[in-house]
Amino acid sequence: MSTSVSFEFFPPNTPVGVDKLKTVVQELGALQPQYFSVTYGAGGSTRDKTLAAVMDIAGAGFDAAPHLSCVGSTRENIAEILATYRERGIRRVVALRGDLPSGTATAGEFRYASELVSFIRQFEKNGQGPDWHIEVAAYPETHPQQRYAARDLQHFADKMRVGADGAITQFFFNPDAYFHFVDEARRLGVTQPITPGIMPFHNYGRIAQFAQRDGIEIPRWVQMKMEGFMDDAASIRAFGLDVVTRLCERLIAGGAPGIHFYTLNQSALTLALCQRLGLGAQA
Ligand code: FAD
Repeated sequence: MSTSVSFEFFPPNTPVGVDKLKTVVQELGALQPQYFSVTYGAGGSTRDKTLAAVMDIAGAGFDAAPHLSCVGSTRENIAEILATYRERGIRRVVALRGDLPSGTATAGEFRYASELVSFIRQFEKNGQGPDWHIEVAAYPETHPQQRYAARDLQHFADKMRVGADGAITQFFFNPDAYFHFVDEARRLGVTQPITPGIMPFHNYGRIAQFAQRDGIEIPRWVQMKMEGFMDDAASIRAFGLDVVTRLCERLIAGGAPGIHFYTLNQSALTLALCQRLGLGAQA
């Protein structure tokens, strides 16, 4: 079975960023991804920009999946956003709890992503919506706010049980964490695909910061090599490509259903990885 690819973007903030993303969509679109997804800022801060980016992607002829986070929102807000997407022909969504922007205390009407998934399914049952294809988030190394891995896994299984079609993982560099997570999820009755989310080493310092914030392990030997390269961008790029290529090779050989790339709105590294791995439609 062939391995599918999907690509994630964040909504650009400037007209230059909007134009650049259109070019990146064309470049990565040549690989015929399953879909492109667009993130949603904490507390809905990018609502209009996410919608605009999603419509640009759909307008270019590709499947687009907006991310939608629920924390801090009311049911009415969420229903309105889903209705807007529905009217515009969007049928995929990545359903998340999200995190509130710092300094915001509004709790809203949803506590967890599972409640958003249930709400979307309920929304359909009332005859007001299409059959949404819903992806949710998974954390092979455990969600950073959860003390106990077993509890996090059970919450994940509950989220899948209430109606998600699949999951995309947080990025990771240890394939055993992914395989173990998938095995455990299967034991809890999860049958849907769990697609690894892969972060190319766009910028080592930035990726290391994300990893520290989100409790993701970068293997010590990779850290040591990367830090030793100092400002040598060519070596960082070459080594990063090798590390991530080997990671993806192991994931694909071990049965991962697809690869979801965190592109950070750039095409070069993701294209190079797909080419090395023979993923997507190749020229
Ligand atoms: P949940 O699945 O609700 O889990 C959150 C926490 O609550 C976990 O610790 C879980 O164990 C716990 N929990 C769940 N259910 C229960 C329960 N019933 N009782 C007690 N505890 C429970 N953030 C954004 O703001 N915008 C984005 O676009 C975005 N995209 C993302 C895409 C992916 C693929 C991933 C992996 C993450 C993304 N995030 C995004 C980050 C995400 O919003 C945060 O990690 C957030 O803290 C958790 O969201 P979730 O949907 O995983 O939450």
